[in-house]
Amino acid sequence: MKFNTKTIHGGQEETDPAYGSVMPPIYQTSTYSQTTPGGHKGFEYSRSGNPTRAALERSLASIENGNYGLAFGSGLAAIDAVMKLFKPGDEIISTNDLYGGSYRLFTKIFENLGIKYRFIGMQDAAGIEDHINENTKLIWVETPTNPMMNVIDIEAVSKIAKKHDLLLAVDNTFATPYLQQPLDLGADIVMHSATKYLGGHSDVVMGSLVVKEKELADKLYFIQNASGAICGPQDSFLVLRGIKTLHLRMQRHCENGEAVARFLKSHPRVGKVYWPGFEDHPNHEVAKKQMKGFGGMISFTTKENSLASATKIVENLKVFTLAESLGGVESLAGHPASMTHASIPQEERAKTGIVDSLIRLSVGVEDEEDLVADLKQAIEA
Ligand SMILES: *Cc1c(COP(=O)(O)O)cnc(C)c1O
Repeated sequence: MKFNTKTIHGGQEETDPAYGSVMPPIYQTSTYSQTTPGGHKGFEYSRSGNPTRAALERSLASIENGNYGLAFGSGLAAIDAVMKLFKPGDEIISTNDLYGGSYRLFTKIFENLGIKYRFIGMQDAAGIEDHINENTKLIWVETPTNPMMNVIDIEAVSKIAKKHDLLLAVDNTFATPYLQQPLDLGADIVMHSATKYLGGHSDVVMGSLVVKEKELADKLYFIQNASGAICGPQDSFLVLRGIKTLHLRMQRHCENGEAVARFLKSHPRVGKVYWPGFEDHPNHEVAKKQMKGFGGMISFTTKENSLASATKIVENLKVFTLAESLGGVESLAGHPASMTHASIPQEERAKTGIVDSLIRLSVGVEDEEDLVADLKQAIEA
Protein backbone atom coordinates (compact mmCIF):
# COMPACT_ATOMS: atom_id res chain seq x y z
CA MET A 1 0.00 0.00 0.00
CA LYS A 2 1.25 3.49 -0.81
CA PHE A 3 1.02 6.41 1.59
CA ASN A 4 -2.26 8.05 0.51
CA THR A 5 -4.05 4.71 0.59
CA LYS A 6 -2.55 3.94 4.00
CA THR A 7 -3.94 7.14 5.52
CA ILE A 8 -7.41 5.83 4.72
CA HIS A 9 -7.09 2.05 4.96
CA GLY A 10 -3.89 1.32 6.91
CA GLY A 11 -4.66 -1.09 9.75
CA GLN A 12 -8.41 -0.71 9.22
CA GLU A 13 -9.25 -4.14 7.81
CA GLU A 14 -11.36 -5.24 10.75
CA THR A 15 -12.89 -2.20 12.36
CA ASP A 16 -16.38 -3.58 12.95
CA PRO A 17 -16.90 -7.32 12.53
CA ALA A 18 -20.40 -6.96 14.04
CA TYR A 19 -22.06 -4.67 11.45
CA GLY A 20 -19.36 -3.72 8.98
CA SER A 21 -19.51 -0.01 9.73
CA VAL A 22 -16.98 1.77 7.54
CA MET A 23 -15.67 3.89 10.41
CA PRO A 24 -14.82 2.12 13.65
CA PRO A 25 -17.46 2.55 16.35
CA ILE A 26 -16.59 4.78 19.31
CA TYR A 27 -16.38 2.15 22.03
CA GLN A 28 -17.28 4.46 24.90
CA THR A 29 -16.71 1.87 27.58
CA SER A 30 -14.28 1.41 30.44
CA THR A 31 -14.67 -2.36 30.72
CA TYR A 32 -15.70 -5.53 28.84
CA SER A 33 -17.71 -8.55 29.92
CA GLN A 34 -15.95 -11.87 30.45
CA THR A 35 -17.60 -15.29 30.13
CA THR A 36 -15.20 -16.85 32.61
CA PRO A 37 -12.30 -15.19 34.47
CA GLY A 38 -9.88 -14.14 31.70
CA GLY A 39 -12.39 -15.20 29.03
CA HIS A 40 -12.68 -11.99 27.01
CA LYS A 41 -12.58 -10.99 23.36
CA GLY A 42 -9.22 -9.21 23.49
CA PHE A 43 -10.14 -6.27 25.69
CA GLU A 44 -10.57 -6.25 29.44
CA TYR A 45 -10.15 -2.67 30.64
CA SER A 46 -9.86 0.50 28.57
CA ARG A 47 -6.60 1.74 30.09
CA SER A 48 -4.99 -1.45 28.82
CA GLY A 49 -6.78 -1.37 25.48
CA ASN A 50 -9.87 -0.04 23.72
CA PRO A 51 -11.01 -1.08 20.23
CA THR A 52 -11.34 2.51 18.94
CA ARG A 53 -7.90 3.39 20.25
CA ALA A 54 -6.55 0.14 18.83
CA ALA A 55 -7.91 1.07 15.37
CA LEU A 56 -6.10 4.41 15.64
CA GLU A 57 -2.90 2.77 16.89
CA ARG A 58 -2.87 0.45 13.87
CA SER A 59 -3.38 3.43 11.57
CA LEU A 60 -0.51 5.31 13.24
CA ALA A 61 1.81 2.34 12.83
CA SER A 62 0.82 2.00 9.18
CA ILE A 63 1.39 5.61 8.12
CA GLU A 64 4.79 5.74 9.85
CA ASN A 65 5.92 2.43 8.32
CA GLY A 66 6.23 0.92 11.77
CA ASN A 67 4.79 -2.20 13.35
CA TYR A 68 3.41 -0.91 16.64
CA GLY A 69 1.50 2.29 17.44
CA LEU A 70 0.67 3.69 20.85
CA ALA A 71 -1.68 6.61 21.50
CA PHE A 72 -1.50 8.87 24.57
CA GLY A 73 -3.52 11.67 26.13
CA SER A 74 -1.13 14.33 24.74
CA GLY A 75 2.16 14.69 22.89
CA LEU A 76 3.91 15.34 26.19
CA ALA A 77 2.39 12.18 27.69
CA ALA A 78 3.94 10.26 24.77
CA ILE A 79 7.36 11.86 25.40
CA ASP A 80 6.95 11.18 29.13
CA ALA A 81 6.46 7.49 28.32
CA VAL A 82 9.70 7.42 26.29
CA MET A 83 11.63 9.02 29.17
CA LYS A 84 10.35 6.33 31.54
CA LEU A 85 12.44 3.80 29.60
CA PHE A 86 15.45 5.27 31.44
CA LYS A 87 16.81 5.34 34.96
CA PRO A 88 18.82 7.73 37.14
CA GLY A 89 22.32 8.22 35.76
CA ASP A 90 21.27 7.71 32.15
CA GLU A 91 22.08 10.49 29.71
CA ILE A 92 20.07 11.77 26.80
CA ILE A 93 21.33 14.01 24.02
CA SER A 94 18.64 16.31 22.65
CA THR A 95 18.43 18.96 19.96
CA ASN A 96 18.84 22.37 21.60
CA ASP A 97 16.09 24.03 19.55
CA LEU A 98 13.00 22.13 20.56
CA TYR A 99 9.40 22.41 21.64
CA GLY A 100 9.26 24.41 24.88
CA GLY A 101 7.10 21.83 26.64
CA SER A 102 9.60 19.07 25.84
CA TYR A 103 12.40 21.20 27.27
CA ARG A 104 10.31 21.83 30.40
CA LEU A 105 9.52 18.13 30.83
CA PHE A 106 13.21 17.19 30.46
CA THR A 107 14.67 19.89 32.71
CA LYS A 108 11.97 20.30 35.36
CA ILE A 109 10.73 16.73 35.77
CA PHE A 110 13.20 14.14 34.51
CA GLU A 111 16.39 15.95 35.54
CA ASN A 112 14.98 15.92 39.11
CA LEU A 113 14.60 12.16 38.76
CA GLY A 114 18.27 11.79 37.87
CA ILE A 115 18.31 11.69 34.07
CA LYS A 116 20.87 14.00 32.50
CA TYR A 117 20.19 15.95 29.31
CA ARG A 118 22.67 17.57 26.96
CA PHE A 119 21.11 20.08 24.57
CA ILE A 120 23.17 20.55 21.45
CA GLY A 121 22.90 21.75 17.86
CA MET A 122 22.74 18.74 15.54
CA GLN A 123 22.96 20.30 12.09
CA ASP A 124 26.45 18.87 12.05
CA ALA A 125 25.69 15.27 13.06
CA ALA A 126 29.35 14.36 13.61
CA GLY A 127 29.48 16.82 16.53
CA ILE A 128 27.10 14.57 18.49
CA GLU A 129 29.89 12.08 19.16
CA ASP A 130 31.69 14.55 21.45
CA HIS A 131 28.75 14.27 23.86
CA ILE A 132 28.42 10.48 23.96
CA ASN A 133 29.75 8.55 26.96
CA GLU A 134 29.02 5.19 28.61
CA ASN A 135 25.86 6.59 30.24
CA THR A 136 24.30 7.88 27.02
CA LYS A 137 21.14 5.96 26.09
CA LEU A 138 19.09 8.05 23.68
CA ILE A 139 19.33 10.77 21.07
CA TRP A 140 16.21 12.94 20.90
CA VAL A 141 15.74 14.78 17.62
CA GLU A 142 13.14 17.29 16.56
CA THR A 143 13.23 18.16 12.84
CA PRO A 144 12.32 20.62 11.46
CA THR A 145 12.94 22.31 14.79
CA ASN A 146 10.45 24.49 16.54
CA PRO A 147 10.44 27.39 15.91
CA MET A 148 13.74 27.93 14.03
CA MET A 149 13.08 25.40 11.25
CA ASN A 150 16.54 23.85 11.41
CA VAL A 151 16.65 20.52 9.65
CA ILE A 152 18.59 17.61 11.09
CA ASP A 153 19.85 14.75 8.96
CA ILE A 154 18.01 11.79 10.53
CA GLU A 155 19.96 9.20 8.58
CA ALA A 156 23.32 10.69 9.62
CA VAL A 157 22.23 10.82 13.28
CA SER A 158 20.91 7.27 13.11
CA LYS A 159 24.33 6.01 11.91
CA ILE A 160 25.91 7.56 15.01
CA ALA A 161 23.17 6.13 17.25
CA LYS A 162 23.70 2.65 15.82
CA LYS A 163 27.49 2.86 16.08
CA HIS A 164 27.19 3.61 19.82
CA ASP A 165 24.21 1.33 20.44
CA LEU A 166 21.87 4.21 21.36
CA LEU A 167 18.18 4.60 20.71
CA LEU A 168 17.12 7.37 18.36
CA ALA A 169 13.73 9.05 18.81
CA VAL A 170 12.38 11.65 16.38
CA ASP A 171 9.61 14.13 17.15
CA ASN A 172 7.93 14.14 13.73
CA THR A 173 5.14 16.58 14.64
CA PHE A 174 6.14 19.32 12.18
CA ALA A 175 6.87 17.16 9.16
CA THR A 176 4.25 14.40 9.58
CA PRO A 177 4.76 11.03 7.86
CA TYR A 178 3.51 12.65 4.64
CA LEU A 179 6.77 14.58 4.41
CA GLN A 180 9.23 12.30 6.21
CA GLN A 181 9.28 8.82 7.72
CA PRO A 182 11.98 8.66 10.41
CA LEU A 183 11.75 4.88 10.97
CA ASP A 184 12.78 4.35 7.34
CA LEU A 185 15.77 6.62 7.97
CA GLY A 186 16.95 4.53 10.93
CA ALA A 187 15.08 5.97 13.92
CA ASP A 188 13.80 3.56 16.59
CA ILE A 189 10.90 5.67 17.89
CA VAL A 190 8.80 8.26 16.09
CA MET A 191 6.75 10.58 18.25
CA HIS A 192 3.89 12.94 17.41
CA SER A 193 1.84 15.56 19.03
CA ALA A 194 -1.25 14.27 17.20
CA THR A 195 -2.89 17.47 18.43
CA LYS A 196 -1.27 19.13 15.42
CA TYR A 197 -1.29 17.84 11.82
CA LEU A 198 -2.47 14.27 12.45
CA GLY A 199 -5.67 15.47 14.14
CA GLY A 200 -5.53 18.47 11.83
CA HIS A 201 -8.63 20.33 13.02
CA SER A 202 -7.58 21.89 16.35
CA ASP A 203 -10.26 19.94 18.20
CA VAL A 204 -8.30 17.34 20.14
CA VAL A 205 -5.13 16.98 22.26
CA MET A 206 -3.29 13.70 21.73
CA GLY A 207 0.14 12.10 21.38
CA SER A 208 1.56 9.01 19.76
CA LEU A 209 4.58 6.76 19.45
CA VAL A 210 5.37 4.31 16.67
CA VAL A 211 8.17 1.72 16.68
CA LYS A 212 9.29 -1.22 14.56
CA GLU A 213 10.80 -3.55 17.15
CA LYS A 214 8.59 -5.78 19.29
CA GLU A 215 10.83 -5.63 22.36
CA LEU A 216 10.74 -1.83 22.42
CA ALA A 217 7.00 -1.84 21.72
CA ASP A 218 6.42 -4.18 24.67
CA LYS A 219 8.37 -1.88 27.02
CA LEU A 220 6.43 1.17 25.84
CA TYR A 221 3.13 -0.66 26.04
CA PHE A 222 3.99 -1.65 29.61
CA ILE A 223 4.61 2.03 30.44
CA GLN A 224 1.44 3.15 28.63
CA ASN A 225 -0.63 0.74 30.71
CA ALA A 226 1.29 1.10 33.97
CA SER A 227 1.44 4.91 33.94
CA GLY A 228 -1.96 5.23 32.30
CA ALA A 229 -1.66 8.40 30.20
CA ILE A 230 -3.99 7.05 27.52
CA CYS A 231 -6.45 8.93 25.28
CA GLY A 232 -10.19 8.32 25.20
CA PRO A 233 -12.21 6.61 22.45
CA GLN A 234 -13.89 9.81 21.20
CA ASP A 235 -10.51 11.51 20.71
CA SER A 236 -9.15 8.36 19.08
CA PHE A 237 -12.00 8.51 16.58
CA LEU A 238 -11.33 12.18 15.81
CA VAL A 239 -7.64 11.64 15.12
CA LEU A 240 -8.37 8.57 13.03
CA ARG A 241 -10.74 10.72 10.96
CA GLY A 242 -8.11 13.45 10.73
CA ILE A 243 -5.47 11.04 9.40
CA LYS A 244 -7.74 10.11 6.48
CA THR A 245 -7.20 13.57 4.93
CA LEU A 246 -3.61 14.08 6.09
CA HIS A 247 -2.17 13.75 2.57
CA LEU A 248 -4.68 16.22 1.10
CA ARG A 249 -4.15 18.77 3.83
CA MET A 250 -0.36 18.47 3.79
CA GLN A 251 -0.23 19.05 0.05
CA ARG A 252 -2.08 22.36 0.49
CA HIS A 253 -0.12 23.30 3.63
CA CYS A 254 3.05 22.94 1.54
CA GLU A 255 1.68 25.02 -1.38
CA ASN A 256 0.39 27.79 0.88
CA GLY A 257 3.55 27.64 2.99
CA GLU A 258 5.68 28.28 -0.06
CA ALA A 259 3.51 31.23 -1.19
CA VAL A 260 3.63 32.81 2.27
CA ALA A 261 7.38 32.20 2.72
CA ARG A 262 8.20 33.82 -0.64
CA PHE A 263 5.92 36.79 0.08
CA LEU A 264 7.54 37.38 3.47
CA LYS A 265 11.03 37.14 2.03
CA SER A 266 10.22 39.82 -0.54
CA HIS A 267 8.74 42.28 1.96
CA PRO A 268 10.99 45.22 3.00
CA ARG A 269 9.65 45.32 6.58
CA VAL A 270 10.43 41.66 7.20
CA GLY A 271 13.84 40.67 8.61
CA LYS A 272 14.76 36.98 8.46
CA VAL A 273 12.44 34.27 7.15
CA TYR A 274 13.00 30.69 8.31
CA TRP A 275 11.59 28.04 5.96
CA PRO A 276 13.55 24.96 4.81
CA GLY A 277 12.35 25.35 1.21
CA PHE A 278 14.61 28.33 0.50
CA GLU A 279 17.73 27.43 -1.46
CA ASP A 280 19.77 29.54 0.96
CA HIS A 281 18.38 27.81 4.07
CA PRO A 282 21.48 26.32 5.73
CA ASN A 283 20.00 22.78 5.73
CA HIS A 284 18.12 22.99 2.43
CA GLU A 285 19.99 20.06 0.88
CA VAL A 286 19.18 17.79 3.83
CA ALA A 287 15.55 18.91 3.75
CA LYS A 288 15.40 18.11 0.02
CA LYS A 289 16.90 14.68 0.64
CA GLN A 290 14.76 13.55 3.57
CA MET A 291 11.49 15.46 3.09
CA LYS A 292 8.92 15.22 0.33
CA GLY A 293 8.04 18.93 0.70
CA PHE A 294 8.84 21.80 3.04
CA GLY A 295 5.64 22.12 5.02
CA GLY A 296 3.56 25.01 6.22
CA MET A 297 5.56 26.11 9.26
CA ILE A 298 7.41 29.40 8.85
CA SER A 299 9.08 31.76 11.32
CA PHE A 300 10.12 35.33 10.61
CA THR A 301 11.46 38.41 12.35
CA THR A 302 10.66 42.04 11.65
CA LYS A 303 13.27 44.32 10.09
CA GLU A 304 12.84 46.62 13.10
CA ASN A 305 13.55 43.57 15.29
CA SER A 306 11.56 44.81 18.30
CA LEU A 307 8.96 43.19 20.51
CA ALA A 308 6.56 46.06 19.75
CA SER A 309 6.75 45.55 15.96
CA ALA A 310 6.00 41.81 16.29
CA THR A 311 3.18 42.40 18.76
CA LYS A 312 1.56 44.89 16.39
CA ILE A 313 1.62 42.43 13.50
CA VAL A 314 0.08 39.52 15.41
CA GLU A 315 -2.59 41.81 16.84
CA ASN A 316 -3.51 43.11 13.37
CA LEU A 317 -3.88 39.74 11.68
CA LYS A 318 -7.48 38.88 10.76
CA VAL A 319 -7.45 35.59 8.84
CA PHE A 320 -4.56 34.23 10.92
CA THR A 321 -5.62 33.66 14.53
CA LEU A 322 -3.19 34.53 17.31
CA ALA A 323 -3.05 31.25 19.20
CA GLU A 324 -0.81 28.53 20.54
CA SER A 325 -0.58 25.29 18.59
CA LEU A 326 -0.23 24.51 14.89
CA GLY A 327 -1.13 22.04 12.20
CA GLY A 328 -4.87 22.72 11.95
CA VAL A 329 -6.76 23.60 8.78
CA GLU A 330 -6.92 27.23 9.94
CA SER A 331 -3.89 29.52 9.83
CA LEU A 332 -2.41 30.44 13.21
CA ALA A 333 0.23 32.92 14.29
CA GLY A 334 2.23 32.67 17.48
CA HIS A 335 4.87 34.66 19.32
CA PRO A 336 7.31 32.01 20.63
CA ALA A 337 9.18 34.22 23.13
CA SER A 338 6.00 34.97 25.07
CA MET A 339 3.87 31.93 24.17
CA THR A 340 5.14 28.45 23.24
CA HIS A 341 8.73 29.05 24.34
CA ALA A 342 8.19 31.23 27.40
CA SER A 343 9.28 28.28 29.56
CA ILE A 344 12.80 28.48 28.06
CA PRO A 345 14.97 31.11 29.78
CA GLN A 346 15.65 34.21 27.66
CA GLU A 347 19.44 33.55 27.43
CA GLU A 348 18.74 30.00 26.19
CA ARG A 349 16.18 31.33 23.70
CA ALA A 350 18.54 33.97 22.36
CA LYS A 351 21.26 31.34 21.74
CA THR A 352 19.00 29.53 19.30
CA GLY A 353 17.65 32.66 17.57
CA ILE A 354 14.28 33.01 19.32
CA VAL A 355 14.47 36.80 19.49
CA ASP A 356 11.59 38.94 20.74
CA SER A 357 10.49 39.90 17.22
CA LEU A 358 10.16 36.30 16.03
CA ILE A 359 6.69 35.31 14.79
CA ARG A 360 5.80 31.72 13.98
CA LEU A 361 3.14 30.90 11.42
CA SER A 362 1.23 27.70 10.95
CA VAL A 363 -0.03 28.24 7.42
CA GLY A 364 -3.45 26.62 6.99
CA VAL A 365 -5.34 25.40 3.96
CA GLU A 366 -7.31 28.57 3.13
CA ASP A 367 -6.83 30.40 -0.20
CA GLU A 368 -3.24 31.58 -0.46
CA GLU A 369 -4.32 35.03 -1.76
CA ASP A 370 -6.26 35.67 1.45
CA LEU A 371 -3.36 34.59 3.62
CA VAL A 372 -0.83 36.75 1.79
CA ALA A 373 -3.21 39.74 1.79
CA ASP A 374 -3.77 39.35 5.53
CA LEU A 375 -0.05 39.30 6.28
CA LYS A 376 0.51 42.29 3.98
CA GLN A 377 -2.07 44.45 5.74
CA ALA A 378 -0.84 43.44 9.19
CA ILE A 379 2.83 44.11 8.36
CA GLU A 380 2.04 47.46 6.70
CA ALA A 381 -0.53 48.68 9.27
C1 LIG B 1 2.75 20.51 20.53
C2 LIG B 1 4.04 19.81 20.45
C3 LIG B 1 4.42 18.87 21.40
C4 LIG B 1 3.57 18.56 22.64
O1 LIG B 1 2.36 17.98 22.29
P1 LIG B 1 0.99 18.19 23.14
O2 LIG B 1 0.01 17.43 22.35
O3 LIG B 1 0.73 19.66 23.19
O4 LIG B 1 1.25 17.65 24.49
C5 LIG B 1 5.63 18.22 21.24
N1 LIG B 1 6.42 18.48 20.17
C6 LIG B 1 6.10 19.39 19.23
C7 LIG B 1 7.01 19.61 18.09
C8 LIG B 1 4.90 20.08 19.34
O5 LIG B 1 4.59 20.99 18.40
